[in-house]
Amino acid sequence: MISLLGIPWDGGSSFMRGPAGAPERIREAISSPSSNLAIEDGTEFVSGENVIDLGDVLSLGKATAPEAVEIIAASVDRALQDGRPLLCVGGDHSVAWPILKATAPKFERLTILQFDAHPDLYPDFEGDPLSHACPFAQILETFDHVDLVQIGIRTLNRIGKKQADRFGVRIHPASSLPTAAELRIDHPVYISLDLDVLDPAFAPGVSHLEPGGLSTRELIGLLHAIDAPIVGADLVELNPERDPTGVTAMVAAKLAKELCGILQRSAHLPI
Ligand code: MN
Ligand code: MN
Repeated sequence: MISLLGIPWDGGSSFMRGPAGAPERIREAISSPSSNLAIEDGTEFVSGENVIDLGDVLSLGKATAPEAVEIIAASVDRALQDGRPLLCVGGDHSVAWPILKATAPKFERLTILQFDAHPDLYPDFEGDPLSHACPFAQILETFDHVDLVQIGIRTLNRIGKKQADRFGVRIHPASSLPTAAELRIDHPVYISLDLDVLDPAFAPGVSHLEPGGLSTRELIGLLHAIDAPIVGADLVELNPERDPTGVTAMVAAKLAKELCGILQRSAHLPI
């Protein structure tokens, strides 16, 4: 049994708005009659049965970015009190900072596996430290007990490299994906999944189209290969404004179902 929380926030988007509409579109895609609720591990994504849908974080519409951080962190903290692993559906990637702000203190040690085209390690982006280009700098700056492993990166510029070196981030670029042995981690893991890790051919409905990415099948293969207790996850950066056919919403729905599968594997873990 897992919890699902929508975070309709795109105030951290540096290039175009839209991801605030994603939670609604992902729920629609999950229940679309064009597919079914099967998860590849043999279970199903059934609301009220193995998924408790907590709805969306409220009051984000008129919030400033610092207010949004507090509102989202408080909602996540409340959700975690139920003791179930939490799947958060964004929203842009800036939501990873408040989610982890609430989640990381619950664990003695935590490794974040970030699937992304971008490192998102800027100390600030054009003066904004709460941009979606920054959440992992905020997290690593705040928590000494959190490690970051990035997968699928293909935009590592000078500042990204400098920050990755500073924080000791392990990077598996898109050109050199990790082996199953490299995904064996013996302590709690949190998955942060930015849809732009996928090639735009597979997921065109994102704000930042970054060619040279993973196929949907490669990504699912990596998710299934993670050998660790997985205690939480987010799925971010679907931009419905860029997704007129709904193909990327269907990809997001598929990934939400697979994330549910791997989270419920860890559902017995005390949080
Ligand atoms: Mn990102
Ligand atoms: Mn990205």
